[in-house]
Amino acid sequence: MESSIVTFIANKHVYYKLRRTAVIKVAIVGAGPAGSYCAYKLAEKGSYPSVFDYSHPREKPCGGLVPATAQELFPFLKALPIPHSERSTMTMITPSGRKIVVGFRKGKIIGFSRLKFDQYLLNMAVNEGADLVEEKVIGLERKYGWWKVRTQKQSYAVKTLVGADGVNSMVRRNIIGSLSKRDKGVCFGYFVKGLENEDVTIKFLPGKKGYMWIIPRGEDTSIGIGSMEIRDSPELKTELATFISNFCPQAEKISEWTALIPNVKDSKTFRIPIAGSNWTLIGDAAGHVDPITGSGIIYALLDGELAAEAIAEDNPELFNKMWIKTYGQQLLRATKLRGWIYKQPLLEVYCMYLKVQNATPFA
Ligand SMILES: Cc1cc2nc3c(=O)[nH]c(=O)nc-3n(C[C@H](O)[C@H](O)[C@H](O)COP(=O)(O)OP(=O)(O)OC[C@H]3O[C@@H](n4cnc5c(N)ncnc54)[C@H](O)[C@@H]3O)c2cc1C
Repeated sequence: MESSIVTFIANKHVYYKLRRTAVIKVAIVGAGPAGSYCAYKLAEKGSYPSVFDYSHPREKPCGGLVPATAQELFPFLKALPIPHSERSTMTMITPSGRKIVVGFRKGKIIGFSRLKFDQYLLNMAVNEGADLVEEKVIGLERKYGWWKVRTQKQSYAVKTLVGADGVNSMVRRNIIGSLSKRDKGVCFGYFVKGLENEDVTIKFLPGKKGYMWIIPRGEDTSIGIGSMEIRDSPELKTELATFISNFCPQAEKISEWTALIPNVKDSKTFRIPIAGSNWTLIGDAAGHVDPITGSGIIYALLDGELAAEAIAEDNPELFNKMWIKTYGQQLLRATKLRGWIYKQPLLEVYCMYLKVQNATPFA
């Protein structure tokens, strides 16, 4: 009698545990460009993922600048139905103060708000059949070849897990360890009004590896400063204040932000596998941002597409080879050049080179 009561209670416990655990084939943590585009591409292939993100609609500290090359790779960017800016020139100010206007040979650069862009991408995914779970993932465990994904509300049993949760990725932390402090840069800035008709402007920093920017985004403008070295952060606000008073005192500040950005300095970081038999990391969580320019949106979209392909083939691990083959050499080369390109004499020559080539540094 006693033992049957114990069995009954134990079974009930298991039953309630199971009832609280929803089963998901593919879960994507993070609905930034990487996660949403991956969800969209998977849904397009008939595999309908669940995307976990608690933050939308939200702005993200970002210039929102994408080069013409991105529009060739992702034609939906050519006809974005959200407010955005388009420019066929860019003004660069060299460390010595020389102003160089570069006209692009091919296409235009566009700038948009990440509030609008990320919402647009997420809608694309949901309209295609992906499921949005508006919950924050707070725990992760690997059990018998499955993942137990825990949010504040409940637990989920997940077959394949995609970490698209940005520079401080908790998925990455739990699987291969966080990006080191050394492999991150820092940015500070504002969203402002009153500069929407300005040219996209980049001012390189004398004596630092980084630059300041003005990027009109249609309805507002991102103005900021970024350095590859986190130790530079205390000086950034003062440097940006001087830049604003010299170049655009009319800017009307709406909000202020500070943000980290992947800035991989050691090519060994890029050699660490970022996908396994039932998991993959994409976008900022993978560290996939150009170490010289800070461009990450194009890589987030590329990662989303490639990871979706690998997962649809039931071989997430394939992503390790796919990203290296598609654009890996570009990032590896940039880790080697980043120390050189920001040396003042070279940077002066590099800006002249871009002018002669009619090319953008954000390719
Ligand atoms: C100041 C600044 C300026 C930049 N400017 C440019 C630019 O002009 N052009 C360019 O190409 N790149 C730029 N970048 C880089 C670009 O913003 C990133 O590379 C890009 O956003 C990466 O996309 P992602 O989807 O990987 O990550 P994110 O855009 O960071 O999205 C991650 C998502 O995951 C969600 N998330 C995080 N943790 C959890 C959790 N535990 N549970 C659920 N959801 C979670 C977050 O809410 C977020 O929505 C800039 C970056 C910074 C910091």
